[in-house]
Amino acid sequence: MANPARTQLAYLEATLDELKQQHRYFHLRVLSGEQKPVATFDGRKVINLSSNNYLGLASHPKLRAAALAAIRKYGVGAGAVRTISGTMKIHMDLERQIAKFKHTEACVVFQSGFAANAGTVSAILGKDDLIISDELNHASIIDGCRLSKAAIRVFKHKDTADCAKICEETKDWPGHKLLITDGVFSMDGDIAPLPALCDLADKYNCIMMVDDAHSSGVLGRNGRGTIDHLGCHGRVDIQVGTLSKAIGAMGGYVCGSQQLIEFLYHRARPFLFSTSHPPSVAATCQAAFTLLASRAGAELIARLWENTRYFQKGLVEQGFLPSGSETPISPIPVGEAGKAFEFSRELFKAGLFAPAVGYPTVAEGKARLRAIVTATHTRKDLEKALDTLGRVARRLAIIH
Ligand code: PMP
Repeated sequence: MANPARTQLAYLEATLDELKQQHRYFHLRVLSGEQKPVATFDGRKVINLSSNNYLGLASHPKLRAAALAAIRKYGVGAGAVRTISGTMKIHMDLERQIAKFKHTEACVVFQSGFAANAGTVSAILGKDDLIISDELNHASIIDGCRLSKAAIRVFKHKDTADCAKICEETKDWPGHKLLITDGVFSMDGDIAPLPALCDLADKYNCIMMVDDAHSSGVLGRNGRGTIDHLGCHGRVDIQVGTLSKAIGAMGGYVCGSQQLIEFLYHRARPFLFSTSHPPSVAATCQAAFTLLASRAGAELIARLWENTRYFQKGLVEQGFLPSGSETPISPIPVGEAGKAFEFSRELFKAGLFAPAVGYPTVAEGKARLRAIVTATHTRKDLEKALDTLGRVARRLAIIH
């Protein structure tokens, strides 16, 4: 029970009121049951276009079985941070498996993709260094950059000429330089111009880092990510990925040289000061990578892309503007935030969950729905989703 005499936090109310006025206040939709293509949120069964569970692995029988077996064998918790006694053999086995999958020397797993980005950038750079960063990079990169205290120069989204200009202006920077980009951008679904950025990193002697959170399990051979997709093996010093999206569980990882990984063991604060994954999570991820590397994995990815093509073509046929996405992330442009949230609410009533995103997650005036297709949606789910989207959008005069 709140104690009315305690008023120290009363000022928070003003921010919440402001969010309500600006249509940026949300309530959390609660999922009962599994994260499936048709799922129950807030007690309503809806077609689910909201999750990053690209391949349906979050409830895959093989991953479930691996998690249960690990719980039986090892219990439910690791009991300590990695550097004390929380490094279990299963953690090391998973890291070796990921490094092999990504064709890198070594790998370290963090508790989340967020921790992997923020923990790595803040560990490898300091106040004398410089970061050159795409303007749409993920919040975890931005936070890592800020934590590092390095100078930050932001280039226009995917604009290699602007990036080159910054590289040229800072070519005599005395400290270390990091060029950093998402591989796939989470709000637009577009792919970074990696080969050109790698050229700049080579030319201007920058460390090259890519966050492949949305492309692992989606792009490249058997889902090896943008680096594989764009032929940049050996050109990227630090590859980040997440275990929370296509892999279906929870966590993040950094792949790179043995030296980088050993450095992170000693300096990355989420690694040093936060408990490691429960063994069941490590086992789940091992099963996911085994599946990805198999024919069944390639088939799931093929289905994901088939569904993506069908859905994105269908959106244009309904009258929505092409979004420019190159991946299963399918933004549906609306513009004004209030309208986007209304669209999402009305869709939900009509049996479809496609969340709205507005400022500050995306630029002001660029509010949208962010629909994500998965490998496990049926053709019927997608047909129904497209029909609902078209019908509700016409009713709200979003399309004509
Ligand atoms: N990077 C990007 C581009 C992301 O979209 C996300 C998740 N929103 C993350 C990193 C963080 O990953 P995780 O959810 O595993 O913390």
